[in-house]
Amino acid sequence: MNASPHTLNTLDTLSHATDYDPDSMSVDKARAFIRECLEPVCAVERVHLRDALGRVLAENIVSPIAVPGHDNAAMDGYALRFSDVVSGKETRLQRIGVSFAGHPFDGEIGSGQCLRIFTGAVMPRGADTVVMQEHTREEMGVAILAPNAVTSEGQNRRFAGEDIASGATVFTRGQRIHAAELGMLASLGMGEISVYRKLRVAFFSTGDELVSLGAPLASGQIYDSNRYALYGMLRQLGVEPIDLGVVVDQPEALEAALTSAADTADVVITTGGVSVGEADFIKAMLERLGKVLFWKIAMKPGRPLAYGMLGNAHFFGLPGNPVSAMAVFYQFVREALLILQGQTPAALPTFRATLTAPVKKTPGRTEFQRGVYTMEDGQCVVTPVSAQGSNILSSMSRANCFIVLPMDSGSQPLGAAVDVQPFHGLITS
Ligand code: AMP
Ligand code: MG
Repeated sequence: MNASPHTLNTLDTLSHATDYDPDSMSVDKARAFIRECLEPVCAVERVHLRDALGRVLAENIVSPIAVPGHDNAAMDGYALRFSDVVSGKETRLQRIGVSFAGHPFDGEIGSGQCLRIFTGAVMPRGADTVVMQEHTREEMGVAILAPNAVTSEGQNRRFAGEDIASGATVFTRGQRIHAAELGMLASLGMGEISVYRKLRVAFFSTGDELVSLGAPLASGQIYDSNRYALYGMLRQLGVEPIDLGVVVDQPEALEAALTSAADTADVVITTGGVSVGEADFIKAMLERLGKVLFWKIAMKPGRPLAYGMLGNAHFFGLPGNPVSAMAVFYQFVREALLILQGQTPAALPTFRATLTAPVKKTPGRTEFQRGVYTMEDGQCVVTPVSAQGSNILSSMSRANCFIVLPMDSGSQPLGAAVDVQPFHGLITS
């Protein structure tokens, strides 16, 4: 389990630090605080290579072989000795055999000789260069190379170990396995590898107004969208999502849901119910169940955030507004889940883009406005989406990035350079 006296002590120590201000936590400070409390899962399991897709490596991978294992041809053509090539004129070489991929030629190439060879086939002893077949013709067992068909020694030859040297550390623990890594591991002949066990993340929505899919809406009710957006983000981070449904705003129901979630999962995430009006009764309950801190983050959207431990589980109480819930997830929960999975997360990909329209902003909080970035004449430009309300979920769907406006900055004019975080970079790990 991830909770430990270390985590509880850290929560205590940090929450008593002199610069700790729950009524105005900067995004960076909140992120750093959470980071201090995280200890990765350490349970490891051996899985078949295919099942390692999307998982986090729990071992360093040292290559037992060189890839490729032999020098081989990069082209279909003839393998020869560069020293036999006649400069500026036709070269005639006697063909003494053939090397196919998977069927090497056993002999050696002598002076004046060549070997028919195909892409990926092992280079024969004695040869150092391959000429492309397009620059040759063959007559009566003699290959005739056009003038200047070969220009340098070693041309069209791939070297043993040029992809991976034998004994090289190919991946280190904490690396996420994507498609290319799967292929690499296969190229090393590894059919099984060690990965960290999947992180179990339980989540539910709170709110009397929320209706689950399949039921009709009565007056004043809305469908619960947060649970689906959360499910999507969780799946893309490679955790095991445990959907606990909708829980009504009643202390007993909430307490039961939180307790059972904390018993079964490594992480518990809720949405709704942590805004100012509701915080007090939830606060009192969470204090009984564990150690949870309530923050007003200096960010927009997504001001309230609760973070702490419930029993052995990390707890994140996200705001109820759909855009706020997603923004807070992206900015805090994402990184925490990567760390807890044993991954070494890279900084979020961010680049500069030019605003195609002015944006309004009040200094004193970090804003994550939603925008659409595109390339125009080789320049990255970004257009804020029109509706920026924290309830307008369609703004997240229309956008492809956050426009990140730092704490101290104010409104920005058209043409200003701003930081942009692409959504796909936030989700992939
Ligand atoms: P709360 O944080 O509970 O005060 O909720 C703030 C706003 O978000 C309210 O308008 C809620 O109706 C809305 N909201 C809360 N939870 C959800 C949810 N799961 N799906 C959609 N909207 C929600
Ligand atoms: Mg609510």
